[in-house]
Amino acid sequence: MTDPVAQRINLLGLPRPELTAFVAQLGSQPFRARQLMNWMYKRGTGSFAEMSDLAKDFRARLALAAEVRAPEVAAVQRSADGTRKWLLRADAAQAFEMVFIPEPDRGTLCISSQVGCALDCSFCSTAQQGYNRNLTTAEIVGQVWLAARELEREERIRIAAGVPAAGGGSAPEERHVTNVVLMGMGEPLANFRNVVPALHILLDDFGFDLSRRRVTLSTSGLVPQIYRLAEETNVALAVSLHAPDDALRNELVPINRKHPIAELLEACWHYLDEQNGRSVTFEYVMLDEVNDSPAQARALARLLKGHPAKVNLIPFNPFPGTRYRRSPTAVIQRFRDELLQRGVLATTRRTRGEDIDAACGQLAGRVIDRTTVRLGNKVIGVAVQT
Ligand code: SAH
Repeated sequence: MTDPVAQRINLLGLPRPELTAFVAQLGSQPFRARQLMNWMYKRGTGSFAEMSDLAKDFRARLALAAEVRAPEVAAVQRSADGTRKWLLRADAAQAFEMVFIPEPDRGTLCISSQVGCALDCSFCSTAQQGYNRNLTTAEIVGQVWLAARELEREERIRIAAGVPAAGGGSAPEERHVTNVVLMGMGEPLANFRNVVPALHILLDDFGFDLSRRRVTLSTSGLVPQIYRLAEETNVALAVSLHAPDDALRNELVPINRKHPIAELLEACWHYLDEQNGRSVTFEYVMLDEVNDSPAQARALARLLKGHPAKVNLIPFNPFPGTRYRRSPTAVIQRFRDELLQRGVLATTRRTRGEDIDAACGQLAGRVIDRTTVRLGNKVIGVAVQT
């Protein structure tokens, strides 16, 4: 006999049209899907028993056929700077990570899209562990659901206890998820099929209701998928550029051998045109004496000048076994000035959560059943799931 529990549908994986169809299958009206979403996403409840404006028999049918289940938390770590990292279970042996970064004016949740990564970027710790599997839509949405719920619960406890908010209460929203970035483990565009529905739920008025500018997808540069993304959604796009020329980028971001810089930039401008977007953010990791010279800054400026582009310089975050070092602060500043002087907008990303290995490129999670599939360097009949 099959286990009925194993067949329950996780509603966190269903965007509104699919949820509406599911509700109809259970013999209920389409507007019930919106009510359900309201309970799930606005009130953060996963218990059908609590959904008091739904008919009792509908709740009973839901309880048999469906569930609202976020990934299980394996561990939580807190940084001295308020950053928090969750280790989430993908199954008994595998885990992935998510990070919340509170700032005075916003709370950014950095979520994962895959367990491990197949892209093999030479300066990234996630790459070292290889690729295990794609996260499902429910696991991607479940990260936001879980963090939002947890942070709101703490906020309620704090208020009930009369404890003032950190920062003197001037920034009430600092504890909440206001922005979501797909910058955790994995290459989101290699998991297109599950990531796009998740984006729809993040943006849906009845879902998390985030504005398109508060959701950012970061990619290492899967060009065909950038074109496809332009047809499906309009979230903000970030691209991991990291080098101003193909020779160096081939080394750092091996997918560049397949989709060189010129092709990648064309895809970016297309995305902006289609989506009426403001600009693309180009991430650029600052690696000591690798990609951080003034001449390289000038080459980067030549690539981007006159285009709607912003450069985000990321001081390299080291991890055990890496051959790279972080560029000195003065070098990063000089690089940034070279860009600014040439009219290219540039900022430096503040490193957060370093003491708990929660900074960019440090997410490791746990991948035990690693496969040998690699995108990039060792391209071997790659299965990019679309
Ligand atoms: N795979 C996607 C999503 C990862 S986003 C992508 O490549 O864009 C994480 C960002 O941090 C990317 O720009 C990535 O290149 C960068 N990064 C990776 N390792 C890093 C490290 N050790 N230090 C600083 N940034 C790093």
